[in-house]
Amino acid sequence: MSGTQPDVAPGRLSAAEIERNFADLHPPLAKSEALNAADRCYFCYAAPCTSACPTGIDIPRFIQSIRSGDIEGAAHTILSENIMGGMCARVCPTEVLCEQACVRNVHEDKPVDIGRLQRHATDPFLASGTQLFERAEPSGRRIAVIGGGPAGLSCAHRLACLGHAVTIFSRDGKVGGLNEYGIAAYKTVDDFAQREVGYILAIGGIEVRTGVTLGGQLSLARLCRDYDAVFLAVGLAGVNRLGLNSEDLPGVIDAVQYIAELRQAPDKSRLPVGRRVVVIGGGMTAIDVAVQSKRLGAEDVAIVYRRGKEQMGASQFEQDLAQGDGVRIKHWARPTRVLGDTHVTGVEFECTRAGDGGKLEGTGQAFTLDADIVFKAIGQEISSDKLGAASAILRVVRGRIAVDANRKTSLDNVWAGGDCVAGGKDLTVTAVQDGKIAAQAIDKYLRFSG
Ligand SMILES: Cc1cc2nc3c(=O)[nH]c(=O)nc-3n(C[C@H](O)[C@H](O)[C@H](O)COP(=O)(O)OP(=O)(O)OC[C@H]3O[C@@H](n4cnc5c(N)ncnc54)[C@H](O)[C@@H]3O)c2cc1C
Ligand code: SF4
Repeated sequence: MSGTQPDVAPGRLSAAEIERNFADLHPPLAKSEALNAADRCYFCYAAPCTSACPTGIDIPRFIQSIRSGDIEGAAHTILSENIMGGMCARVCPTEVLCEQACVRNVHEDKPVDIGRLQRHATDPFLASGTQLFERAEPSGRRIAVIGGGPAGLSCAHRLACLGHAVTIFSRDGKVGGLNEYGIAAYKTVDDFAQREVGYILAIGGIEVRTGVTLGGQLSLARLCRDYDAVFLAVGLAGVNRLGLNSEDLPGVIDAVQYIAELRQAPDKSRLPVGRRVVVIGGGMTAIDVAVQSKRLGAEDVAIVYRRGKEQMGASQFEQDLAQGDGVRIKHWARPTRVLGDTHVTGVEFECTRAGDGGKLEGTGQAFTLDADIVFKAIGQEISSDKLGAASAILRVVRGRIAVDANRKTSLDNVWAGGDCVAGGKDLTVTAVQDGKIAAQAIDKYLRFSG
C-alpha cells in the first residue's frame, strides 16, 4: 500500500445530496403531533424523567402546559432550569437520560417524545427573541467567565439574571463552544447555536471578549484580583494521542478539529473527505466524524473500538445511526501501527479481549485496514498550557480541575464547570447544569462576603 496516492477529495456528492444528508435529524413537531405526544404523558408524581434530567427540568409540568396550549409557560419551566433547553432538545442523548426513565417504556416500547416536545416549547421564543426573564437590580459585583461554551454561557446568564456584571473571555472567534464547533451538523441546523447565544446574551449585563486565552493574555491570578469571582469553563483540548510511531503522518487527523472545520464550512461539498476512512475511538466524537464522513460521500467508513459494544461511550441510538448510514463498527481491536510513507495508507490493528479483572489485553491476532484518512477520536484531555500558570495553583485530578458539589475549585474565589472539571459526563446538558450551580454558589458567596 505504501506509496499509493491517497484518495482524499471534495465534492464526492452533489451539493443537493449533501444538503439532504445534513438536514435536521429530529425535525420539529407540528402542533397536532405535539399535542398527541403530550397526551401520552402520565404526569407522574415524583416523575423519574425529571430525576434523570441533569438540569432537573419539571418535565410533566412543561408537558401539561403544552397540552393546555400555554407554550410560554412550558418554555418558562424549561428555560428557568436550563437556559440551553433549545440546544439540549436537539443534542441530549435522551435515550439514556429523561426518555430512558419514562414509565411508558415499561408497557410500551416507546417513551414520551420529551426532547422534541422541549424543542416545540422553546423554539418560538428563540425565534422571536421574546425574553422570559428579567435582570435583578445591579449588584455592583463583577464576575469573569473564562470560556463561552455551554458551561460559561449558562453561568453568565444566571449571574446576569441575579444582577451581576459578567465578562466572558473566550478563545474562539464565535461564542458557543462545541455547540458551534463540535456538535454534529445535522443535530443543529440553520445556525441554531448562534441564535441561541444571541438569545442568552440579550438578557443584558454580559460583555463578551473573544480571541483571548487563559494561559495567553489572561492570567488567573490577575483575574482573581480584578474580579469578585471567576468561573473557569475552558472545555478540553485536542483529542488524545494514539501513542504510535507515524501518527503525525499527513492524513491522520484529530476528529474534533475536522468536525470544527465541517461546522464552519460555508459549502460542505468543498470539504475534502477520504474515500476510505478509519475512525479510532468509541464515543460520540467517533460516531459523529464517521457519520459525517459518510454523509459527505466517503465510500467505506469503519470505526474501530478497543472494547465491546456495551463499553462504547456512544449510546445505542448513536451506534444505530452510524450503522444505518453504512458505517462498519469493529469491536475488540486496538491500533498498533499507522502505515504509509508520505501519507497514511492504512492502520494495523491487534485484536483484543478482556483479560483478568477486565483488563484489556492483546490476543496476538492482527489485521490491517486500508485508509485514505484516519481520524483519532479516543477522548480529549485538558492540557496544562490551556490553564497556563493556573495549573500550578489549582488542584487537578487526572488532568481535570477538581471541584466540590458547588463547583468550587481549590481556590477561594474560583469556580469551574463543564468538560474541564473532574467527574463530569461531558455532555452539553451537564455543562449547563454546572454553570447554573456555580452561578448560584457565586451569588451566595458574593452576598455573604459583604
Ligand atoms: C464532536 C463532539 C460531539 C458532541 N456531541 C454531543 C452531543 O450530541 N450531545 C451532547 O450532549 N454533548 C455532545 N458533545 C459534548 C459537549 O459538546 C460538551 O460536553 C460541551 O460542549 C461542554 O461544554 P463546555 O462549556 O464545558 O466546553 P466547550 O463547549 O468546549 O467550550 C469551551 C469554551 O472555552 C473556550 N476556551 C478554550 N480554551 C480556552 C482558554 N485557554 N482561554 C479562554 N477560553 C478558552 C472555547 O473557545 C469555548 O468557548 C460533543 C462533543 C464533541 C467533541
Ligand atoms: S434537558 Fe435533555 S435530559 Fe433534560 S429533559 Fe431536556 S432533553 Fe431530557
